[in-house]
Amino acid sequence: MKVITSPAMWAGARCGGCQSRIVWRYSSKVNRVTGKRSLIPLNAEPVDDPRVGNIILIPNPDNPDGEPLAHVLTDAERARVPEDMPRYVAHFFTCPNANDYRRPRR
Ligand SMILES: [Zn+2]
Repeated sequence: MKVITSPAMWAGARCGGCQSRIVWRYSSKVNRVTGKRSLIPLNAEPVDDPRVGNIILIPNPDNPDGEPLAHVLTDAERARVPEDMPRYVAHFFTCPNANDYRRPRR
């Protein structure tokens, strides 16, 4: 698996709730119902602790030269990913205003 370690970022993106710098990435998973990728807000900076970061950036198979995709690691994958690979977390895990990301179900 080829991994991108220095992603270009969407310049200037910030969380609407807490103003932290974030990066929007499409998910590596395609929604089976809609056939589309969802967007995930990531903290712009990778985390230092590899036990915390559960997301890595991987090339988009549909567009290898384009923006990388956010791939949420499974437990098995986490064990295989090198420790020095940049890992990210979804911003809503650390955002103090995470409720802004949750929409009422009805
Ligand atoms: Zn925030």
